[in-house]
Amino acid sequence: MMKQREFQIVVLPGDGIGPEVMTEGGKVLDAARALMPSCRFTLTEYPAGAGAYVTHGDPLPDTTFSACERADAILLGAMGLPGVRWPDGREMTPQIDLRERLDLYAGIRPILLFHPSHTPLKNLEALDMLLVRENCEGLFWSRKNVPAVGAKLVDDVLHVSRRGAERVCRAAFREAQRRRNHVTLVDKANVLPSMVFLRQIFDEVALEFPEVKTDRVYVDAMALYLVQKPERFDVLVTENMFGDILSDLAAGLIGGMGMAPSADIGDKHAVFQPSHGTAPDIAGKGIANPTAMILSVALMLEWLGHAETVAAAEEIRRAVSTVLGDPVNRTADLGGTLSTTALGDAIAARI
Ligand code: ATP
Repeated sequence: MMKQREFQIVVLPGDGIGPEVMTEGGKVLDAARALMPSCRFTLTEYPAGAGAYVTHGDPLPDTTFSACERADAILLGAMGLPGVRWPDGREMTPQIDLRERLDLYAGIRPILLFHPSHTPLKNLEALDMLLVRENCEGLFWSRKNVPAVGAKLVDDVLHVSRRGAERVCRAAFREAQRRRNHVTLVDKANVLPSMVFLRQIFDEVALEFPEVKTDRVYVDAMALYLVQKPERFDVLVTENMFGDILSDLAAGLIGGMGMAPSADIGDKHAVFQPSHGTAPDIAGKGIANPTAMILSVALMLEWLGHAETVAAAEEIRRAVSTVLGDPVNRTADLGGTLSTTALGDAIAARI
């Protein structure tokens, strides 16, 4: 008999379209429960985000953070509201705080095209790529520095530590081993010393994975190649800010932010969330595309690593592929008229 497992899942719906897409993620997880008879899931919702700041005075209340530390996994919708800022004007980004405090160094971002009509590129029939973004240092390192009032100069530091670079490169190589055995480092080693260092560490880590082929591409050239011939890439690994920018570009290749799931993974904890933000322009209209959230649920089930959750993850991806493989099934971002709920229902019904 299969070993029984109980999973405690913390759910952080957040702000804007976060709760709307989270409902559909929960719906699909419910539909998949029948495939996981040995697993029990307890989902508990906690406040986090700009709304939590308004009601609790803190975008990441202590009770929420300690629940996240205890959880087997965390599902997150999206966080931040345009009108809610820190007194110094910065946006609230508890999702980034969570990454840093739980040390979720590997941002795993699958880029999968489900139907050629979803991409703005001509003649792109298929795309299956994975971007691995360093999540805890890079150009986000000094993001909390507060410049002196009236400062004449403000610096941001691009921080690359040996430990940070080694672990994210290893994560990328391990992902490649499960895919097509190819990793491309995206850097700016022709200009920045921190990037020369990153490349040196990438080259060292590559020696540990002799069966994985490698490439090194400057970030500016990568922006070009992603538009010209994205299908030539398998796994990309890069620093935090480059990853931030390129993952939005890559999402654009497969239909937009509503199609791009993500997993922020550390050695002990992991958060699963769509790559998109709170989309204030469409929040409350019931038209957000829930696919990124639903695929993030699949990433969570895969990461939980039980034979049944891994199989359920595969089944969710198959259901998404079947539903979105029919171009009739489109939300507004893909040029269709399906509501968030209708697309969630269609995918859940396929499981
Ligand atoms: P952040 O800074 O948190 O990434 P943002 O406002 O820059 O937030 P998003 O919230 O991701 O970016 O929105 C970018 C664009 O993508 C918007 O036009 C938004 O409507 C669209 N978008 C984002 N998520 C979805 C979704 N799930 N379905 C449809 N459109 C979406």
